[in-house]
Amino acid sequence: MEAPRTAEIVSVGTELLLGQIIDTHAATMARVLAECGIGCQRRATVGDNFTRIVDTFKSALSRSDIVIAIGGLGPTNDDLTREAMAEAMGDELVFEEAYAEELKAWFAARNYTWVERNNKQAMRPKHGRMIPNPNGTAPGLIAEKDGKVMIALPGPKGEFDPMAEGSVREYLQSAGGGMIIASRTVRICGIGESAVDEQLGDLMDQESPTVAPYAQTGEVHVRVTARAASKEAAMEQIIPVCEEIQRRLGKPVYGFDLETLESAILAELERRGETLALAESVTGGGIARRVTSIPGASKVFSGGVVTYTAETKYQLLGVDPDLLDEKGPVSPEVATAMALKAQVKFGAAYALATTGNAGPTSDIDGKPVGLCYVALAKPDGSVEVNEHKLRGLREDIRARLEQFALLKLWLSL
Ligand code: ATP
Ligand code: MG
Repeated sequence: MEAPRTAEIVSVGTELLLGQIIDTHAATMARVLAECGIGCQRRATVGDNFTRIVDTFKSALSRSDIVIAIGGLGPTNDDLTREAMAEAMGDELVFEEAYAEELKAWFAARNYTWVERNNKQAMRPKHGRMIPNPNGTAPGLIAEKDGKVMIALPGPKGEFDPMAEGSVREYLQSAGGGMIIASRTVRICGIGESAVDEQLGDLMDQESPTVAPYAQTGEVHVRVTARAASKEAAMEQIIPVCEEIQRRLGKPVYGFDLETLESAILAELERRGETLALAESVTGGGIARRVTSIPGASKVFSGGVVTYTAETKYQLLGVDPDLLDEKGPVSPEVATAMALKAQVKFGAAYALATTGNAGPTSDIDGKPVGLCYVALAKPDGSVEVNEHKLRGLREDIRARLEQFALLKLWLSL
C-alpha cells in the first residue's frame, strides 16, 4: 500500500454533542497526525447512535486513507464504535479468546465481578488487531482492509493519551513513510486579515509550503507548513517563505512562533537601552501584566500606575485637576497628560497611557461605551494620541485596547 497521506478523525459520544465535555482528544490526535506527516482533512463528532456512527465512518473512509475513531470502546450498550467500525469496513467481528482470558484474569486480580458483557471488549474486526491498553480494559483497534485503515482508541484520558502518543504514533509514523509535517507561524500586528490576504495571495495559492492566515485578537498569524523527510528539510522550505512574508509586510511582522508582541517590544527596547512606563486607567494594569509576564522585563519596564479615578490621576500622576474637570477623564487631553506625567515620574524613554469607558453603561460624564484613548509619550518629548471606538463586551474592549496600545508602541520603535 502507498504511504497514506490523508486522515480524518471521528469523535464518538453524545456527551460531546451536548457540550458536556470538550473534545481535547481530537486535538491531540490531529497534532500526532501532523507530526507523522499525515494531513488531517476533517474532524467529525457523532453521538452514540449506531446508524449515524456507521454513516460517519463510511463517508470518512470514502475520502481518506486513515480514519481514527475516538471513544465508545467500553463494554456498555452505548459503546458502539467496535461494531460500527466492522460494519463500515465491510468486515466482521471475531472473538479473541486469548484476550478474553487476559480480561478475566484482570478482573479476578482486582476482585471485580466478571459479567458476560465484558466479552464485548475481546471482539475485534477480522482484518484487525488489538492495541494493548495497559491502563484499562478496552484495547484499541487497528484494521486494514481494501487499502484503508481504521484505528479506534478508548475515550478515558489515562488510556487515550498513552495509546495515541505510543503505539498509534509509532504506527502512523511508519505508515506515513517517515515523512513529517512542520510549520512556522509568522505573527503580524496592525494590519487586518484581508490586507494580509491581499499581499500574500500568491503565496497562499502555493501547494508547498502551504501558507494560511488565521485571525487572533488584534493580530493575524500566518502559518507556513511543509511536508518533508525531516524537520530540517521542512524548515529549508519554510524559512525562505517566512522571509518573503517579512520582506513584503515589513514592520507589522513582529515575531515568529511563540513570540508575543510584548516580548518583541521588550527585546527591541532592551537592544536600544530604552525603558517603558505605563499609566493605565481603563486597562486596569492589563498592559503591565502582559509586559511583566516576560522574563527579564525589569531591564526595560520601569513601572506603572493604575489611576482609575480623576482623583488618583491627579494625586499619583499630577494630571491638572482643571484639565480633568474641563475635558473629563476620557479625553485625548487627559490621555496625553497621563503619558507625559508617567514618562517623567518613572524617568522612562517611552510611556503609554490608556483611558476610556469599557462599559457596559456610559460613565458619569456620558462618554459612550467603547470610547477609549491611547497616548504614547516618546523620547523626543512628543506625544501621539489615538482615539478608538471599540465594540464588544467589557473584557473584549479592554483586551483590544491593551493590544492597540502595545501595537502603537511597536510601530513607533
Ligand atoms: P469506557 O470504557 O470508559 O466506556 P470508551 O472508550 O467507551 O471508554 P467513552 O465512553 O466514549 O469511551 O468516553 C469515556 C470518557 O472519556 C468520557 O466520559 C470522557 O471523560 C472521556 N472522553 C471521551 N471522548 C473524549 C474526547 N474526544 N475528548 C476528551 N475526553 C473524552
Ligand atoms: Mg463508554
